[in-house]
Amino acid sequence: MAKYKCLIFAGFLFLLLATKSSASTTPIEIVTIKNYDYVTLKQDLHDLKHTHSDIIDYWVLGQSFYNRDIFVVTLGSGDAVVYIDGSRHGREWISTYITMKMIEEYAHAITFGDGIYGEYNVQDILNKVTFYFIPMINPDGVDLTIHGLTAFPEESHEALIGMNDGSTDFQRWKANALGIDLNRIWDAGWDEIINSPPGPSWHNFKGVEPFDQRAVEDLYIRDFVYEIDPEIAVSYHSTGRILYWWWRELDPSLEDMNFQIASRVSQLTDYPLFPANRPHTNGGGMTDWFTKEFQRPGLTPELAPFHYHQPVELQWFAEEWDRNKYVGLSVAEEAYKLWWERNDMKNHWAYEAYMNLYNENIITEEYLDLTRTIKFPEFLELLHAASISSNVEIEKQSFHRLDLARIANDIINPNIPTINYVTNYAHYTAMFRNLKTVYFPHKMVHTVAVNKLRFNNVNQDFLPYMPVSMAEVIDLLNKIITDDDLL
Ligand SMILES: [Zn+2]
Repeated sequence: MAKYKCLIFAGFLFLLLATKSSASTTPIEIVTIKNYDYVTLKQDLHDLKHTHSDIIDYWVLGQSFYNRDIFVVTLGSGDAVVYIDGSRHGREWISTYITMKMIEEYAHAITFGDGIYGEYNVQDILNKVTFYFIPMINPDGVDLTIHGLTAFPEESHEALIGMNDGSTDFQRWKANALGIDLNRIWDAGWDEIINSPPGPSWHNFKGVEPFDQRAVEDLYIRDFVYEIDPEIAVSYHSTGRILYWWWRELDPSLEDMNFQIASRVSQLTDYPLFPANRPHTNGGGMTDWFTKEFQRPGLTPELAPFHYHQPVELQWFAEEWDRNKYVGLSVAEEAYKLWWERNDMKNHWAYEAYMNLYNENIITEEYLDLTRTIKFPEFLELLHAASISSNVEIEKQSFHRLDLARIANDIINPNIPTINYVTNYAHYTAMFRNLKTVYFPHKMVHTVAVNKLRFNNVNQDFLPYMPVSMAEVIDLLNKIITDDDLL
């Protein structure tokens, strides 16, 4: 009987464990459509961290005037940095939902999926890029629009009502709780901002100088942005379904690149680009400043159809999310390319790739980046240069260069047409024909074998370059096909 009881207990324990483990792997949607206030943000951050503990981190950057925390959320561990924020304007809290949803969905793709989201490889992107999200810059402003005076201490009410033109309806509020418009204090065209009210107000007051001390929330952000040094900054606002991207203090030589990056976001969201080169633009905005100060792309998407002085109703959230769900990943890929260019990684990686091969190591996934970022012929050129600068003696060098070409081809196939593959080999054949290395026929045949196996044909263009007879090819082909390490 004791044994029987023990069995029942073991069975119960098993059931308990089974239930528990299935519960912990069932994806739960944390970020849902709701009035996205400060308490919701805190709860969702806590739950996201609990569910995706290996992927998400968050901490407090500073406090608003009424002691609400300004949170930073990080995702990824790469060298290139992307900065994305939301709710700089109080009533625009749909942008907190959008940024939080981004964090959840990207983390979700890894925790519960295969790391793929749409056409994006999230895992790969998070290895190359670090996201810094600030989903709610202005928590006082957000809570004021959602909860009104009830979310604020009694002694503040008179001042808040005064800044709200005597009204107790705070739904239209944009500023921080001190009546500073956090998207008008940045040091970019600040002097030229017109229609700023004479003092603190529910909207548009630019303060008395750039980075007015009352813009507490933005002062944290400014210092933080200097610290993290982003390649691209995205600042979400509402409304109008338009994308601001241009600022007049951008070096004209960079305009085309910024335009291309903005255009991709425009295609994803179907928000048109705000026209560049307007004689007078508003200025004082975070991304105006970022563009001026860093000379890198600063994007301000305006979510949802135009609403005059109103928050966006919940019914629009799903569609806006749908339009914006890939924006973070798309921008991250662009950021990585910018970082790569800026750090002259081309030569660095080509050299590493070369040395790896020289030491007979297998070329790794990361070299895919090289071929994605630059054109194949350029890749070969860089490898060639790397082989020269490594001072390897000529015969060995030629062997390795041939290997490089083969492996480079293997990596990027089938992304390039067969003919390029063959042409590149032909080019190398012509170069190596004179060297007559022992390896040469063997390697060429290997190439033919790979070609045959992959594309089920041996391209005729290839044959004139063959240094051996067709009989020899067939012979070697048979030999190689049974050679495990080559296939
Ligand atoms: Zn705004």
